[in-house]
Amino acid sequence: MNIEGLSASLYKLPFILVKDGVVNDVNHQFTNMMEFTCDDLLNKSIEDLFNILRVGPNANPYNICGEKDYFIFTKSLDVRMVNIEIVEERNEKLFFFKLQPKSNIHDKYPFISKFCSDNYDGVAIFSLPDITLLKANETFVSFFDEPFNKLENCIGKRVSEFVTGFEGSTSEKVWEDIVETGQSFYTDEYRFDRFERGITYWKSTITPIHEEGKLKYCVEVTKDITEQVMQRRKIEEQAEIIRLQNEKLRWQADLLNLSSEVIFTWKLDGEITSWNKGAEQLYGYNSEEAVGSICHELLQTKYPLDINELQFILKDNEIWRGIIKHTCKEGKKRSISTSHQIVTNDNGEKIVLEINHDITQIIRTEEQVKQQKNELEEIIQGIDDAIFIYDSNKKFYLVNKAGKELYKDHEFSNFENLRNKDQFRYYDENGNEISTDNLIVSRVSRGEIVTNYKMTFKTDLETKHMSVNGRPIYDKESKLKFIVLSCRNITKDIETQRSMEQQKKLLETIIDTMQESLYVVDRVGNYITSNKLSKERLLTAFETIEQSFNSSEIYDSNGKRLTIEELPAYSVFRGETIKNQVYHYIFNEREIDIVTSGTPIFDEKGNIRYAVISTRDISNIIQSEKALKQTQEKLLAAELEKNRVLEETLEIKDEFLSLISHEFRTPLNVINTAIQAINYFCINDLPEKAKKYLDMIKLNAFRQLRLVNNLLDITRADAGRIKINKKNLDIVFISKAITESVETYAYQKGIAVDFTSSFAERTIGIDDEKYERILLNLLSNAIKFTPKGKSIVVRLTLRKKNICIQVQDEGIGIPKDKKNIIFERFGQVDSSLSRQAEGTGIGLSLVKRFVEALGGSVSVKSTVGKGSTFTILLPDEVVIEEDNDEMANLMDNRLVQVTNVEFSDIYL
Ligand code: ADP
Repeated sequence: MNIEGLSASLYKLPFILVKDGVVNDVNHQFTNMMEFTCDDLLNKSIEDLFNILRVGPNANPYNICGEKDYFIFTKSLDVRMVNIEIVEERNEKLFFFKLQPKSNIHDKYPFISKFCSDNYDGVAIFSLPDITLLKANETFVSFFDEPFNKLENCIGKRVSEFVTGFEGSTSEKVWEDIVETGQSFYTDEYRFDRFERGITYWKSTITPIHEEGKLKYCVEVTKDITEQVMQRRKIEEQAEIIRLQNEKLRWQADLLNLSSEVIFTWKLDGEITSWNKGAEQLYGYNSEEAVGSICHELLQTKYPLDINELQFILKDNEIWRGIIKHTCKEGKKRSISTSHQIVTNDNGEKIVLEINHDITQIIRTEEQVKQQKNELEEIIQGIDDAIFIYDSNKKFYLVNKAGKELYKDHEFSNFENLRNKDQFRYYDENGNEISTDNLIVSRVSRGEIVTNYKMTFKTDLETKHMSVNGRPIYDKESKLKFIVLSCRNITKDIETQRSMEQQKKLLETIIDTMQESLYVVDRVGNYITSNKLSKERLLTAFETIEQSFNSSEIYDSNGKRLTIEELPAYSVFRGETIKNQVYHYIFNEREIDIVTSGTPIFDEKGNIRYAVISTRDISNIIQSEKALKQTQEKLLAAELEKNRVLEETLEIKDEFLSLISHEFRTPLNVINTAIQAINYFCINDLPEKAKKYLDMIKLNAFRQLRLVNNLLDITRADAGRIKINKKNLDIVFISKAITESVETYAYQKGIAVDFTSSFAERTIGIDDEKYERILLNLLSNAIKFTPKGKSIVVRLTLRKKNICIQVQDEGIGIPKDKKNIIFERFGQVDSSLSRQAEGTGIGLSLVKRFVEALGGSVSVKSTVGKGSTFTILLPDEVVIEEDNDEMANLMDNRLVQVTNVEFSDIYL
């Protein structure tokens, strides 16, 4: 056939021109039909062209049958059924594609096409019998392994080409059956295990389509149900497990009530569903009461965690274990060791299986043990002794406070550490260092029991003496469990003991060197100890007092011989006090006087245990005392004799003085009377000069008389012969009269004299003559020692039961050290020749004697340069008088006379 000779009608068909095996031309009918462009196809080899067009089934470009229907695919993979006719000339080949009527499947089977495009199930159309995929949706191809899970890689291909492992599979068999029988195939659950992703399950329907009585196509609708199947399978498996479990549970439930354990179950909302005997016994609720109630409410369960949390923790078949608290029916609280497990019951319901064990007692015991342990530890901590407890490896298990203090801040871990520390060294009682092997802890670890082992523990800083006890403690299997050491610090005791020993030695030395003999006797009279001197003096030459007593004689200070019971030691035992008692001992013709003291020594019950007797030899003292006494007696006799002679002499002197004074007074009185006579009778006859001389005679006669009077009085006073003649007189009146009588003298000297009295009148018993002498004496002294222009006060006051008469002047005063002298006979402050005023120093001593004779007292207060105050106190009392007309006498010349005499030594 010539191409150029082809009929025009043929050219209207779609064709492809292949020249030399390569596409040379494509007409537009073809491109229109197949949606390809010329460029898609031109210059492609004929094989490539057939591949692009996916020509099938079993199409070979060099073996095309014009009678046969082929399918080709458009660019959008739509299938077309065609006849292929080839016109060949030389090197050119024309392929004409004649489209079969109703070749578009979409047009042919629109419902399938719709089903396909839904993409819900996997839908595909295959051609038969070659089982080439003509059309499929994406769901369908997505079932296959890569790269066949894409449409373009499957369409136009045989099923064996894109289903992995198709050949030899059950699938192949299914397809063969369909092709052979033309019957539909349906499966609910088809298992396929050739895909790379593993076992898959499928629900499929394959329906063959016949055309003109021939099997032409088939439609497969398929669904991957792998997941559902797996799920179901799992559910089935679980159901089996649950079934088995339930079976087991049922079996267990029978056991529940047999078991002594506490077992019950509850729903997840807490409702109790079963309750065994053990639970009844423990909680006191019977099964009827318990089942149906809410578990946590009934038992007031206390979980160590939140109940919701617990339910969260509880997972199927897993067991939660813990310790909880339950309250029994009668209110008692119980500690429970529990296990909770979620299981499924016969009804497929999840329930909690709770198995409990009452551990209240165990916990209580544990707590008690713990408390006891704590208490024990506290006791151990508080013990004064250092306690070290080691374990069997000699590691510290417990060290109490005192123990830690002993080792200061040392870390307590291992005994070896402590031992190896250079600063700790241990010595035995003899001062030898103890080796590690011989340390108490090592000895006890070998099973030894050590009691009161004395040792010394030294560091560079201190030395401690200890008494150590050690004891091993074994467990039930007799294996060493602990080593317990208790160390008592006896450093102080040892130091005290040493210092006591030293003191004892010192004491013994002191006692031995004492100047007293000393010995100690027990109750039965044995000498316990005695010092050197005591032995030398033979006081304790024997062993017992009795022996000493029998070989000596002992006398008390009155010369009475002592019985053995009266000996000082026995007196001490009777509780008598022996202090400085003098005894006279005679031993072997040797005599001594001793002074003895005794002291008891008591025992702890307060009984006298020993008597300590100390004696001192006073033989010498007694002898010298005797000699002294004799001398004193002799001296006393001599003194008495001397005094007697002296007194006699004094008396003679007084008598002499008295006599002389009398003798003096008689001529003086005559002279005075003669002067008075001259004054009275012929004073006017005398020339002035003679009057002056007469005055001088008068004054010196007075002075002489005063001296004689005073001498006489003082002599009398010394001889105790002052005669007092008290009359009841007004002391104010007398005092005033006497003061006034001296006013003339005072006035002449330029001195003022005042008289004051705190009372107007006071009658007391007084010797007015003596009182005059007293007051005049004081006044004459005051005027004598008071300079011109100053004043003198005579003051009368009442002082308790006394009349107080004071003479106060503003004179020269009396020095302190002279205040007592002036009242003595001849006592003068200034005894020099240049003294201010003439006097004899008798005046004040007479005043004192007169005042005292009147029952009063005299004193002086004075400040040198300021003045003196003489104070006389006379008793404020009246007397029973004998004669009372003396008052009138006072007013006559006597006072004038006396005043003249008393003032005769004042030079005006
Ligand atoms: P006389 O006769 O010497 O006065 P008295 O016994 O009266 O002797 O006095 C003794 C001495 O006391 C006097 O010599 C004088 O020194 C001192 N004396 C006495 N009274 C006073 C006085 N009022 N003021 C100062 N001195 C006095």
